[in-house]
Amino acid sequence: MADFIYSQPVKIWFGNGKLRKLSAVLDELRVEKCVLVCGRHFQAKAEELQAAEPRICGIFSGVEQNPQLSGAIETAALAKRVQADAVIGIGGGSSIDTAKFAAAIAGGDADALACYHGETPFPKTPLKIIAVPTTAGTGSEVTQVSVVSHFSEKRTINNPVFMPSAAIVDPELSATVPPRTTMNTGLDSLAHALEGYWSVNHQPIPDLMAVEAVKMVLQNLETAWREPDNMTARENMAYASLLGGLSFALPKTAACHACSYPLSEDYHLPHGEACAFTLDSFVRINADERLEALCIAAGLHGTEELAEKIRTLKELAGLRTRLSQLGEVDMDKLCSDCAKHPLMNNNPVRMDEAKLHAMFEALA
Ligand code: NAD
Repeated sequence: MADFIYSQPVKIWFGNGKLRKLSAVLDELRVEKCVLVCGRHFQAKAEELQAAEPRICGIFSGVEQNPQLSGAIETAALAKRVQADAVIGIGGGSSIDTAKFAAAIAGGDADALACYHGETPFPKTPLKIIAVPTTAGTGSEVTQVSVVSHFSEKRTINNPVFMPSAAIVDPELSATVPPRTTMNTGLDSLAHALEGYWSVNHQPIPDLMAVEAVKMVLQNLETAWREPDNMTARENMAYASLLGGLSFALPKTAACHACSYPLSEDYHLPHGEACAFTLDSFVRINADERLEALCIAAGLHGTEELAEKIRTLKELAGLRTRLSQLGEVDMDKLCSDCAKHPLMNNNPVRMDEAKLHAMFEALA
């Protein structure tokens, strides 16, 4: 076995109703004042939380999908104004990633845009981050990644300042996620587990979690999509999403996520749908003995069955599976942008532009 360094610094509070433990989490982290970041779907609930917990001194509820840097800057200004020492992000990955970026820049006076572009370091003392996912999902609650856009530029920034101090994973919060988003986000979790597992940086402990995450997604995602009120399926998907996050936090994702960026930026696919677009293709491209072993451990006959299951789930929910459904596609630009994305280097099979062309031609 190769040597490895494993670390998972986030304290995880998991279970139905766990958001009711927010005050205990704030006590434990010695938070005196904090601000809360969410999207519109959570605004009313955020106000209820604020009424019950006086340490929440401000709310930014303007997070949209593919969150903008401007939202993080506004949140950081609010946090500074009320002298907060923590930022709570409640929502999908968009809200959690906004909270992470805001917490990082509120810890000093560095120029946010220069930090965003890597031209200046983030302040050394970020505010504490408490991540509360409401989708199942991104796993952002256990990663040191923040994905934020500046106009049409979408950047994934990997920096220790973004590591949450605590994650509250309360499956009840996902009960209101609409079916299509349930499918998109659930397939994102599956991509995290598979890509962490086949990443060239894979490690034994995340591998174990990846196998369990794949099994849980395959056993529960269709039910969560068909029966939004099925709390057993929601709970299992929340756990699968958490395991998915832990599976890729250290090894990082690979080719599907590399391809997801041009698919989201130029063809406006939501993040999960963009990752799922090439997921079954890469199961076939990356098929080897290790992946075969994962499939068997997850209760499948092999990689071909996994690829077919992914295709079936996408088709069930009406996700786009062919380039012809994306409008006019500039194939050369798509392949060139995918090939040069840094995450492509984590794929176990080298993917140059010619190989990407062949893969996308098969999805025409
Ligand atoms: P999202 O946060 O964009 O949310 C999708 C939609 O669902 C939004 O309209 C949101 O308001 C709504 N929503 C969320 N929870 C809901 C609920 N409980 N009930 C009703 N509606 C709800 O989607 P996402 O897939 O969770 O996050 C995607 C973002 O996360 C992308 O920007 C992606 O790049 C990023 N991401 C980050 C990491 C990381 O480690 N930081 C990992 C993967 C993805």
